[in-house]
Order: sequence, then C-alpha cells, then structure tokens
Amino acid sequence: MAGEILIKPDLQFVKRVMAAGGDTVKKCYQCDTCSVVCNLTPDEKPFPRKEMLQAQWGLKEVLSAPDIWLCHQCSDCTVYCPRGANPGEVLGVLRQMAIEKYATPPLLAKAVGDPKFLPLLIAFPMLLLLFLLKIMGGMGIKVGENLVHQGIAIPEGKIIFAKLFPTLAVDFIFVPAFFFAVAVLGKGVLAFWQDINAPHPWRVKVEGNLVCNLIATLKDILFHNRFRTCETTYTRATNHLFLVFGFIFLLIVTTWGFINEWVLHHDPPYFLLSPIKLLAMAGTASLLYGIWNLIKERQANAEKAGYGSYYDWFLIYVIFVVGATGLLAWLFRLMHLQILAYPTYFLHLTAVFMLFFYAPYTKLAHFVYRTAAMLHARMSGRGF
Ligand code: SF4
Ligand code: SF4
Repeated sequence: MAGEILIKPDLQFVKRVMAAGGDTVKKCYQCDTCSVVCNLTPDEKPFPRKEMLQAQWGLKEVLSAPDIWLCHQCSDCTVYCPRGANPGEVLGVLRQMAIEKYATPPLLAKAVGDPKFLPLLIAFPMLLLLFLLKIMGGMGIKVGENLVHQGIAIPEGKIIFAKLFPTLAVDFIFVPAFFFAVAVLGKGVLAFWQDINAPHPWRVKVEGNLVCNLIATLKDILFHNRFRTCETTYTRATNHLFLVFGFIFLLIVTTWGFINEWVLHHDPPYFLLSPIKLLAMAGTASLLYGIWNLIKERQANAEKAGYGSYYDWFLIYVIFVVGATGLLAWLFRLMHLQILAYPTYFLHLTAVFMLFFYAPYTKLAHFVYRTAAMLHARMSGRGF
C-alpha cells in the first residue's frame, strides 16, 4: 500500500534512553504542550513531541533526526510538561546517543558518558605527557652530579614552560590530537548529513546554495539569535556566548602562536602587554566567566530545568579546568612560584588534551551536528 510505513520498535533502545537519563520518557502522553511552548521549534513538523513519541516507541531512527539538534535545551518544555516527562532532558539524551552513533570508535563516546572510565580518560593524556618527559630527560631530580629518576624535574631559574615541555614536543602530541578530532568529527558530520538527506518518510527536501546558507547559519550561531529566544534559562544563551567567544579568542591565540613559532621563529614567553598576551587574557577571562555562570545557572535552575547528566557535566568541568589551570599557571609564573607553576602547567596540558582529543565524543561535538541540522532546517524552508 502506497505511503505505508513499517515501524520497527527496538526495546533495547528504549531501555538505553531510560538508562542514560531519559527515564521519564514513558510518562509522555502526547499532549503536545512541549511543542506549543517551545520558542525554537518550526511550525512545520514541530519538536519535541514527535521525538518523545519516537523514543517511547523505540524508533532509533530518531538519532538521525535533525530536529533533536535544533533544541538548545532551554527547558521551557520541561517546565510546562504536565506529566513531568522532561522532554528537554530526553532530547539531550538522544543527542548524546547520536554523538555515540556517529563517533569513531563509538566505544570512546560510551567511555566519556560513563563515570567509571573517568580515571582512564584522565590517565591517558597524563601518561602520554609523562612518557614525553621521560624521553626528553625531564623526569628526575639532580642529586650532585647524579640524576635520580623519581619524578618530574622542576626546571631551575626563570619560569619558562618550554623548559619543561619544549614547544616542538607539545606540538608532537597536540597537532596529531587536533587533526584526529577534526577527522572524526568530519566523518561523523558527513554521515549525519547523508542520513538526514537519505530517502525516508520524514525527509524534507533541501534547496538553495549550500555556502550562502552555511554562512547565514554560522552568523546566526555566532550571535545566538535563536538561542536567545529561550525563556526558562534565558541567561544560558549569554553565558554560552561568552564561552564561544572565549574559544574563538583562544583559537586565534593558538594559531598566532603557531605562526610565530614555525613561520616567524619567535618563541614564547611573550611580553606581558603584547597583543597575543592581551588576546589570551581576554579569551581566558571570557571562557571562565561563561563557564562559571553556566555552572551557577544550572545549579540554580536544577529543580525546574533538571540538573543535567554526568555527560553534560564532564564537558563543563573539563572546560573549567582548562581555564582555571591556564590562569593559575600564568599567575604562578608571574609570582615566580616554580614549584606550583610547572605542575599546574602539566595539569593544564592534560585538560587541553582532554578537551580536544575527546571532542568528537563529548557534548562539544554538538557544534558540528547542530550547525549541520540548522543548515538543513534553513535549506528546507522551515523558518531558520
Ligand atoms: S513531553 Fe510532556 S508536554 Fe510533551 S507531549 Fe509529552 S506529556 Fe505533553
Ligand atoms: S528544551 Fe527548549 S528548545 Fe528544546 S525542545 Fe524544549 S523548549 Fe524547545
């Protein structure tokens, strides 16, 4: 029969949604209040009611649905849901599972979402950095003329972080880690784009110029135009914007430093008031301000909007540690506290590695999938 849709429910999928934090999904009785109160949903095929239904029925195709990414988890729907089904949080769980679906290897995404793997995830970059120190002779304490291998040797004299980890050695670890993350994210988002454009009953036709629409989408994301229409957690958009600008500034600083090192052969440390330093300070301040307020805002709204899952908090704390250790390492260096500056720098490198290397598996991956979903919505004339 024409137009017939064969539904294949997957009970294991429903159990996984519930176990990952969407345990309220079964409470939904399809009243549609959530779609009515959501300021972000398009008039055509609105979310999140239909995604709640798909998740309840075990239709795992929902993980390839662009609409789960159009939600910014503002929790307006959660507040108004008469059944306490927490649609905002359920969509968050579906996004986590979608990241896992498109990540390579998916096992790493599972590990990021499971607290029992946290020690391993921290140990991996630490051991990598310690191995680097060992092969560079940076492990050990000098007793007279003898080198006793008992731990990290704190370099003497003026604090220069490159004495502990030469820039080349840092690049040796971080450049491949960065390109690994870019490759995994690129592969994932391409597969996602193919899935949302594949023939299926819910497919929406896209048309128009891809590049022009992508630029318009990025502009919208850069200023959080849609995100700012959220009500319950309205401050989240502003704090998230600080975070985004912090990342952009620090990305510029990193690229600038890379050019200085490899093209201009001008090595750090830089003059305190040099433009690159000032931009780094502005980036760190913006990052810390944004993440600190996001933490406070989540705690303050926990009762009405949900506290968030371990998966959410994993990324929040990694970003916080990146900012805090970066700031502290710099302050300890200005105070000439070698014993604190070098270990803090070691922790900073560990956190930065975790942020980039695990990016395709953490919530940070949302920036590529959400961009693709918003681009798709714009190109299919859904009011974006
Ligand atoms: S999630 Fe809540 S508001 Fe939305 S349809 Fe279900 S019961 Fe209604
Ligand atoms: S959390 Fe906010 S953006 Fe997401 S579906 Fe609910 S109301 Fe809409």
